[in-house]
Amino acid sequence: MTLTDLDSPQRRTGTTGTTGTDTGTDTHCPYCALQCAMRLEPADDGRLAVQPRDFPTNQGGLCQKGWTAAELLAVRDRITTPMVRDAGGELRAATWQEAYERIVTAVRAAQRADGPDAVAVFGGGGLTNEKAYSLGKFARVALGTALIDYNGRFCMSSAAAAGNRAFGLDRGLPFPLADLGGADAVLLVGSNPAETMPPMTRHLAGARQRGGLIVIDPRHSATAALTDDGAGLHLRPLPGTDVVLLLGLLHAVIAASGTDDDYLAARVEGWGAVAAAATCWWPELTQQATGVPADQIRRAAELLLAAAPHRGGAGAYVITGRGAEQHAHGTDTVTAAINLALALGLPGRVGSGYGCLTGQGNGQGGREHGQKCDQLPGYRSITDAQARAHVAKVWGVDPDAIPGPGRPAVELLDSLGRPGGPRVLFVHGANPAVSAPDAGTVRERLASLDLLVVADFVPSATARLADVVLPVPQWAEEDGTMTSLEGRILQRARATDPPDGVRDELVIWAQLAERLGAPVQFATDPIEVFAELGRASAGGRADYAGADHERVAREPVYWPCPDREHSGTPRMFLDRFATPSGRALAVVPSVVGVDDDLREGARTYLLTGRVLRQYQSGAQTARVAALGRPGEHRFAEVHPLTAHRIGVEDGTPVRITSARGSFVAPTRVTTAVRPDCVFVPFHGDGDNQFCNDLTNPATDPVSGMPEFKVCAVDVSPAEHGAGT
Ligand code: SF4
Repeated sequence: MTLTDLDSPQRRTGTTGTTGTDTGTDTHCPYCALQCAMRLEPADDGRLAVQPRDFPTNQGGLCQKGWTAAELLAVRDRITTPMVRDAGGELRAATWQEAYERIVTAVRAAQRADGPDAVAVFGGGGLTNEKAYSLGKFARVALGTALIDYNGRFCMSSAAAAGNRAFGLDRGLPFPLADLGGADAVLLVGSNPAETMPPMTRHLAGARQRGGLIVIDPRHSATAALTDDGAGLHLRPLPGTDVVLLLGLLHAVIAASGTDDDYLAARVEGWGAVAAAATCWWPELTQQATGVPADQIRRAAELLLAAAPHRGGAGAYVITGRGAEQHAHGTDTVTAAINLALALGLPGRVGSGYGCLTGQGNGQGGREHGQKCDQLPGYRSITDAQARAHVAKVWGVDPDAIPGPGRPAVELLDSLGRPGGPRVLFVHGANPAVSAPDAGTVRERLASLDLLVVADFVPSATARLADVVLPVPQWAEEDGTMTSLEGRILQRARATDPPDGVRDELVIWAQLAERLGAPVQFATDPIEVFAELGRASAGGRADYAGADHERVAREPVYWPCPDREHSGTPRMFLDRFATPSGRALAVVPSVVGVDDDLREGARTYLLTGRVLRQYQSGAQTARVAALGRPGEHRFAEVHPLTAHRIGVEDGTPVRITSARGSFVAPTRVTTAVRPDCVFVPFHGDGDNQFCNDLTNPATDPVSGMPEFKVCAVDVSPAEHGAGT
């Protein structure tokens, strides 16, 4: 088959043996990393309808986003033709040939003038494994650039960094999610699954029944409310003090002589320094720093101790989410959570553990196979000579031809169009105009490029800034695999054909690579690409070599799965951790305050997060009518004391202003937020709201994750008539 043959967008269906649209197709939800199982069945109106499917993670449940996902297939502003920006500054329809010529000309001109890194790539945690892998290869082999990173940097890079450091390997949940159900206690640090992934909360029922659900969150979120009525405890720290609270909990465990000393001696290194660091954080001092009452700290420690296996409990889990991570020192906070889990002897034990809830649909797989600026497929380091040689052999190139490490997302986005920075950017599966911190500056950077290429299926805020827009298929129109939050490789099955005019990214990258004179051909069949990914990952930490589409369609498999006979690895670290010594590494976390802290003129903390009926930037869910009216999800939760202080009532528009920008939203007066905080959902796009214009691009020095979760703002009544 030549690349010209591939110009047809509807070249085949049912490539992985799926049943097709006559009888329905088994697949998974397009959105979050829970990847709830669903079946797409033909409906009477000729469209597809969603039916939930039983699966261990969702147990037959779906949230509203999943139930309405088929509406995405019929959005009115679907992009079905390439577009290029004309001399007058307007986007107009173009042929694929014209779009490609515009891209190739700009890439060549930029690289001729400024070298290979004049071109950069920004990927996404929603791309299939096949596409995430191919995008990394396209950047490094066809474009020859070191500059590729992705929006997963915003999502869970701090947990990945802390997990890699402590355990030698990062898999969000190194155990099946369903294991949580048997635990006596579950500690959730900065996570709100009751809104972000509601079916997940079924696995918290056991801990709730036994009064052992503990939620750390400054806000009384829907998840925190699950602790009400004796189901557990809600600890509400001052924003930015999670690390202190976790040290205080560790202190309380140590003070109660509750550490699992046999486990620590056998399985952990560096414990002495961590225990010493916790000595000063006795509960009363922790209360002073965090605002969490000392008796609640002791009570939480008691619940965890009673659940711990060395104390005869049924098991305990410590789970972190974005609230712990999205800080300029989020890696330290996650490290403190891991230390607490180690003290209790939880990681690497059946029925107990530490894990992180991944957010984006393929946030796990998307970070394993080459989109990260410092990684090659299989979680290989791009600076490791052996790893480079292995991947180069699979790719059919010289190891020296693979560029070195690039720049993490925030740094990359900030360098766009600046002297010495990239002049051309490819964006695939991401919407940084909405989702990046200090998004107003990011939009300026995007506008300063010689050429912005965006592949998307709807005109997202980023696509609307592009010079070339490439229409691509969406979830139910593509074949591939996704890796869920528990490291299970799942089939994404094609249930319907994409509209005429749409072209798959695998084909786009193959055709562009050919036009750019790449030294090798790029596979376009997801089955072939996955097989190549398996070879590239073989022997790496995230080893997919034993999986293939047929096997995954039959039964999802947990990585690592090094060969066809291997049954996969649901539970990791049972015998040893993936560190060189086989022991977990306990690391003393730094205690560092909020980067953009309260001051005169900015006396309130802005907290950002998600709501039940929207997903990430909103580019998809804001277009689903059943999920709410445009603007419905723009609101500011304000405490009654704050409302009284600034003179606003429920519904009054308030202006929230940070050092970077301002944002207007109607007030929701509620005690769910602390008096020193205002909460705003960061979703946007449907009505162009840009809450992230306010957020702080300061990044974690280890992970590169920005401090989305907290910055200092002023809250005041909006001027009359302001509403957008
Ligand atoms: Fe499940 Fe997440 Fe989809 Fe909701 S958005 S149905 S929780 S996968």
